[in-house]
Amino acid sequence: MTSTFTFEPDLLRRYDRPGPRYTSYPTAPQFTAAFTSADLREHIRRSNASGHALSVYVHMPFCASPCFYCACNRVITRDTARAEQYLRHLLQELVMIGALFEREREVLQLHLGGGTPNFFRPAQIARLLAALGRQFRLSARAQRDYSIELDPRTVLPQDIAALAALGFNRASLGIQDFDPDVQRAVNRIQSVEQTLAVIEACRANGFRSVNVDLIYGLPMQTLAGFERTLATVIDARPDRLAVYGYAHLPERFKPQRHLDATFLPHPELRIRLLALAIERLEAAGYCYIGMDHFALPQDDLTAARAAGDLQRNFMGYTTHADCDLVGLGVSAISHIGASFSQNHRELDAWEAAVAAGRLPLARGLTLTPDDLLRAAVIQQVMCRGEIDIAAIEARHTIDFHAYFSSAWPALRALEADGLIALSPSSIRATPRGQLLLRLLAMCFDRYIGTQSADAAAPRYSRVV
Ligand code: SF4
Repeated sequence: MTSTFTFEPDLLRRYDRPGPRYTSYPTAPQFTAAFTSADLREHIRRSNASGHALSVYVHMPFCASPCFYCACNRVITRDTARAEQYLRHLLQELVMIGALFEREREVLQLHLGGGTPNFFRPAQIARLLAALGRQFRLSARAQRDYSIELDPRTVLPQDIAALAALGFNRASLGIQDFDPDVQRAVNRIQSVEQTLAVIEACRANGFRSVNVDLIYGLPMQTLAGFERTLATVIDARPDRLAVYGYAHLPERFKPQRHLDATFLPHPELRIRLLALAIERLEAAGYCYIGMDHFALPQDDLTAARAAGDLQRNFMGYTTHADCDLVGLGVSAISHIGASFSQNHRELDAWEAAVAAGRLPLARGLTLTPDDLLRAAVIQQVMCRGEIDIAAIEARHTIDFHAYFSSAWPALRALEADGLIALSPSSIRATPRGQLLLRLLAMCFDRYIGTQSADAAAPRYSRVV
């Protein structure tokens, strides 16, 4: 297999700077409280005319114990009664939001994320699905993607059978690293045996695919330990793999303050850990999908990337390009028509709004024509590693070179370093530039360098 990458540590070090991950454009720091419930209702009303299918994300925030690297919106508790209270509010939110959507719109994609969704008992998840089914038309098609994040430390084999019976066909498991020293340092003790048993149970119960997450750049990580983790994971043959770089932002994510930063790998080792992961995954036949993501050749994501149908959103990469995204639960983000909107990030505020019969909207944004154009360009970068200039010009009736004239100096600099190839019809990331797609995307981000983006700079992870 030919490598997608040319791996050059010096170059990566030189370009290793903070940047957005572009799960949306504009990125979340641009959302404001000026976006109101009336705006959201109007975007939903307009989107109903499109008849597009829906993707539903439900945030389930509780976890039994804190992982110290965590950057998710979650609540640590062992009080299972909190799940019941949360579910009650979730069902109320669902009734409010569901009433705004045309009933005929099909839910092709459903994702339960967290937190730890399996903190909720299967019977509670069954009630959630039944309520979703009352408000929306849940797809019965074979291509539907109904996925759930599972914590191998706490999910039971019988839970997996129950989830399969409810219609879930994809699972995502956090692993990060099997090395015991790393697990102790990040406060997440998870054995190889329990993890492999969960993967096996998903397969035995007919899940169509299993994704696992690894992280490089964690404290105490070594090449030898990560190599063992990679070998174990590759043996288990998950359909999809994400290999994230740990972003140490303790000023923003409180749990990370528990990590002893002196044990974080130095930049050189970080790059070697990443290189090792890429080398082993490519050698094992995994295909590069896009930023941090790999999949087996027969996986839907690989086919979508080859066909140019891949989409990037808050859940990572997806095959359902035309869906409007409906986010439910604390901190959840929706992407409906030309808008983004986010629920309250604090559990109390979210619950209070729902209990008062209000949509729990905290902030959002109506995209301008310029935002939509740049979002389309950045989608092409993140999903294909290439901008099709003619397609963008035809769709948005612009002269690409004139419109983006201010981006040209930065693009020429990337070209001079061999990261991109410029031609009259396209801008393409070279094998040297594949790991630095964010840098190419940043050339088209109007908000980079603005006050709101600068204020948010500590929130961005480093490119490598
Ligand atoms: S990493 Fe996952 S399981 Fe761990 S605290 Fe964060 S959300 Fe919970």
